[in-house]
Amino acid sequence: MRKPLIVANWKMHNTASEASSFVEELLGKIGEISSVEVAIAPPFTALESVSKILSKTDLVLAAQNMYWEPEGAFTGEISPVMLRELDCRFVILGHSERRQYFGDGDGEVALKVGAALTEGLMPILCVGETLGEREQGKTFEIVERQVRSALDGGMPDSGGGLVIAYEPVWAIGTGKTATPEAAQEVHGFIRGLLENLLGEGLGDEVRILYGGSVKPDSVDSLMAMQDIDGALVGGASLDAESFARIIHFK
Ligand code: PEP
Repeated sequence: MRKPLIVANWKMHNTASEASSFVEELLGKIGEISSVEVAIAPPFTALESVSKILSKTDLVLAAQNMYWEPEGAFTGEISPVMLRELDCRFVILGHSERRQYFGDGDGEVALKVGAALTEGLMPILCVGETLGEREQGKTFEIVERQVRSALDGGMPDSGGGLVIAYEPVWAIGTGKTATPEAAQEVHGFIRGLLENLLGEGLGDEVRILYGGSVKPDSVDSLMAMQDIDGALVGGASLDAESFARIIHFK
């Protein structure tokens, strides 16, 4: 049984103090959440303050990125060891904004996935095609390359130790959501690929999230799909009311 996972990706929003107030507000709105796992990925500077609040709740902490070395002369970088110490459970890797603006290619993503697994962090590996790639009929080819190359960096011991987020780049922050059927087609493809790469049992345990303009009015139909096991939510996670509604999808 795959427990649904809803992840808030705040990107570069909220200072440490804003983050604390927001999480307190959110907690006041969500109530009981035993049937779904919820993770918050604030900016690095807010990890500690959010971690302290989440430690008293069922919500868990995620980071938005990391470097692959445990320590060293890497100015400006954050290591998996540092994230673990703050009680991060997940780390988002290979987000399309990292690939597009910060030079994270398949090789870097593989190193990060390997390091996260070694240090006991669960990677949320983001994959997805651009609009041009979709129009050229390359969606499956791109997604397969991104999944295969990332797992060259390391394989999880259990299916539950890895999360994939399918995020069509054209749907991120644009208000355009893939239809549930179109998303399911890619999720089903990723499931088959994971069963091939990890074995049927493990591949079936991996949670595959959908990301790309998920909103309160689109979450229910997406979550009704067989291989959509949760959502990676950007914009709508910055509004406590909207995010609370997404967590309580029907
Ligand atoms: C994201 O940042 O991963 C994302 C899906 O953003 P949005 O929900 O704003 O499209």
